[in-house]
Amino acid sequence: MPKKKLYIRTFGCQMNVADSEAIAQALAADYALTARAEEADLVLINTCAIRRKSEEKVRSLLGSLRVLKKRRPQLLIGVGGCVAQQEGERLLVAAPHLNLVFGTRGIWRLPDLVHRAAQGERPVAVELTPGVCALPHRLRPAGQVQALVTIMQGCNNFCSFCVVPYVRGREESREPGAIIAEIADFLAANGKEVTLLGQNVNSYGRGLPEPVTFPELLAKVAALPGLARLRFATSHPRDLSPELIAAFAELEPLCEHLHLPVQSGSDKILAAMNRGYTREEYLKKVAALRKAKPDIALTTDLIVGFPGETEADFQETLKLMREADFVQAFSFKYSPRPQTRAAGFPGQVPEAVKTARLARLQALQEELTLKANTRLIGRVAEVLVEGPSRRSPAELCGRLRTNQVVNFPGPPELVGRLLTVKLTEAHPHSLKGRWVAPSTPWPQVA
Ligand code: SF4
Repeated sequence: MPKKKLYIRTFGCQMNVADSEAIAQALAADYALTARAEEADLVLINTCAIRRKSEEKVRSLLGSLRVLKKRRPQLLIGVGGCVAQQEGERLLVAAPHLNLVFGTRGIWRLPDLVHRAAQGERPVAVELTPGVCALPHRLRPAGQVQALVTIMQGCNNFCSFCVVPYVRGREESREPGAIIAEIADFLAANGKEVTLLGQNVNSYGRGLPEPVTFPELLAKVAALPGLARLRFATSHPRDLSPELIAAFAELEPLCEHLHLPVQSGSDKILAAMNRGYTREEYLKKVAALRKAKPDIALTTDLIVGFPGETEADFQETLKLMREADFVQAFSFKYSPRPQTRAAGFPGQVPEAVKTARLARLQALQEELTLKANTRLIGRVAEVLVEGPSRRSPAELCGRLRTNQVVNFPGPPELVGRLLTVKLTEAHPHSLKGRWVAPSTPWPQVA
């Protein structure tokens, strides 16, 4: 019997992208993926609750699916991820055309939930049951060269603005043996790049029967034959240990890029955010990283307009951005989230002030990004080709080890290859280059 069709729409971070891959695998026995919601038998929305804006987008998508459901009443619609975890039953009440709700730890129950929804039930699975970090062994499709590998779930940090500990539960690490086995399988099928994922990977391993530190896990993964590039996200600056900093100098596959969310440059705001470090401590770690790996590219997350943020606090953030010399920053206006402490803080900043500060911050980041890209002109560097360029069908798009984007002319057969590219032009968001030669052929695993 031909498989039914599944459309997945993913909002949010890389964890959600990895979760959507897991959703496709969990339902693979009965469903094949489609890129068109109009022809799907099952539509699943994997949601993000970090900012109000992403939540609003989910609600509007859900609204437009009502029309589709009217045309095809047999269509099943489900909502999963962080908004589902937060809202649970309330979503079913708000959207009578919704068939099922599954939370951040409900993915592997999907075959049963979908079956029940097809029988006319409206199941809700939002328990944050511990023990789910015995995640099933993930299989990647043949030809995939980049893999997102979840190594832990949840967070214990309770930053005062963040909803993650409430919607993803407490930290739980996956057994190292399971992680290594999954990556070894991916590399055996000619995979090249692995990104280890968790909300705070630096605290990986606490609570395991035989505790393993994150640097120890990195060393084990880096030693696997066939691995060309190793990355990880996300790191909490407070937990960035000297051993992890040393790993950048010691482990060849570990790419010279670190995403280290600072959020603010003001000590007063950092304390109110419950981040557990000062600007000086953050900058000391930046200096140590640059000493260990002088070419390292640092990227960050920044929030503007946190409650109580004055113009002077904001200036401190701009100053820190220059001092840390970020190559890229994901920046957002603060938005109060349900359950979080900061939502009730006094001194909420007016929307217009937040908007103006965000524009100033983004203008500065654009300047820093362009400077970082310009520094690379004339260099010859390794690029992993990810796909066609968005700007021109005759061009390919890939990434340097520092995660900077490079576009260059080349045929589609080169997608998935590691190439040597001469960098010729710098733009605000990317570089342009010229393919010089294939990189040294990467040893294949027998
Ligand atoms: S470390 Fe803070 S910002 Fe990051 S997921 Fe945990 S609570 Fe949220």
